[in-house]
Amino acid sequence: MHDFSSPAMTELMRELFPICRSISGDGVRETLRAIGKRVPLTTHEVPSGTPVLDWTVPKEWNIRDAWIKDATGRRVVDFNASNLHVVSYSTPVRARIRTSELKNHLFTLPDRPDWIPYRTSYYNEAWGFCVAHRTLAELSDAEYDVCIDSTLEDGALSYGETILQGESRQEVLFSCHICHPSLCNDNLAGISLAVALIKHLQSLPTLRYTYRFLFIPGTIGSITWLARNRDALARIKHGLVITCVGHGDKFTYKKSRRGDAEIDRIVEHVLAHSGEECEIQEFFPWGYDERQFCSPGFDLPVGCLMRAPHGTFPEYHTSADDLSFVTAETLAGSLACYQEVVATIEKNRTYLNQQPYGEPQLGKRGLYSAIGGDAKSAERQLTMLWLLNLSDGRHSLLDIAQRAGISFSEALDTARVLETHDLLRLVVDDPG
Ligand code: ZN
Repeated sequence: MHDFSSPAMTELMRELFPICRSISGDGVRETLRAIGKRVPLTTHEVPSGTPVLDWTVPKEWNIRDAWIKDATGRRVVDFNASNLHVVSYSTPVRARIRTSELKNHLFTLPDRPDWIPYRTSYYNEAWGFCVAHRTLAELSDAEYDVCIDSTLEDGALSYGETILQGESRQEVLFSCHICHPSLCNDNLAGISLAVALIKHLQSLPTLRYTYRFLFIPGTIGSITWLARNRDALARIKHGLVITCVGHGDKFTYKKSRRGDAEIDRIVEHVLAHSGEECEIQEFFPWGYDERQFCSPGFDLPVGCLMRAPHGTFPEYHTSADDLSFVTAETLAGSLACYQEVVATIEKNRTYLNQQPYGEPQLGKRGLYSAIGGDAKSAERQLTMLWLLNLSDGRHSLLDIAQRAGISFSEALDTARVLETHDLLRLVVDDPG
């Protein structure tokens, strides 16, 4: 496992955790600044009211403080204790109201009386508080003072973009959402992994593909990006939405809408040979931003690689999805998986057998003596035969690895041996 990045990932999560993010506003900007301190990042600001596909960039939301006070002036609910207490995008309010009416604006989780739920009201102007259920039970006064010191005004939608130029203009897209407040697995884990993956890519001597990372508010962010980048879309060869990568023992891969895109085959193959438990899901039209990238007009080859999916763990969208819910080891394992996917994307090339008439004589090239007589050598020999037979210019290394039932790295290592003996030659397939 490559765990060199796990302290950096954990540190970034801790820095971002207290910030109150939403789909727009200063919390998003502060988050982008923290990312931009670590990796090259371009921040875009799209004005409220801008039409984007069938949507409109909404008003910008900001919040300074919020509370519910009892008759003695004590804060029984305090935004400073948890930013989850305020329904995201709540309109401003300052009033003394009857407890019976206040309860219409309170959201709780009766099954989990100590947890605060996470709620939003983006496209419907309203206000509300999310509280632990036991707090609701303790509201015994006849009336309370409530205050949400927020603004909902024309401003901008902010998102960040990192581009790492490779040899080809063809792109690999990674996208993660940056719109949740203090929630770790569903949000901060993905951001932290994306930053670590950028650093990993920067450390590689060369990149075959160009890599584009999006740090965007969910739904409206991807819709805005798609509306503004239609010219770039044809260059996207592979894509993954990064989410929920910090908790759960097994991996889950949700395929692209196409279902048979190269990225689908790559991720399935990497997971199958990883030794990790995994589940492969067919595409469905909800979830994260893959639903926008995979809308039928775009139909981009974008899947979603996660661990336990959203909605399948009770801590999802509650205050229990905190810093203790994500472990450094789990996050490091997820990063290693993404790195393996990237390595496969970069190295999945096609070779051409230079001696295609009959089997080339391996013995006289020392390829038998080099491999001896044990079981592993016999496997290696079969791998050579698979590579020689299928390297007709129409099968990639991944095709051959799948057909031979071997790992991609085994196919790659063997191809390189055959290449040094002039039996295979790389097909020049510059993707453009
Ligand atoms: Zn979420």
